[in-house]
Amino acid sequence: MQERREIKYGKGSRKCKRCGTHKAVIRRGGLNICRRCIREVYTKIGFKKTGSRGG
Ligand SMILES: [Zn+2]
Repeated sequence: MQERREIKYGKGSRKCKRCGTHKAVIRRGGLNICRRCIREVYTKIGFKKTGSRGG
């Protein structure tokens, strides 16, 4: 069982413009932020999930 997880990023790949990481960076509406930051952003704009958990 071999799992090849190779993500191809172009030269000067897009990276999170919030923290700077280039892991799981999503460009939603040109946000270009990682999933982690997205959560923060969503929470900011009022995207709260039912039952807030520590974090
Ligand atoms: Zn980030």
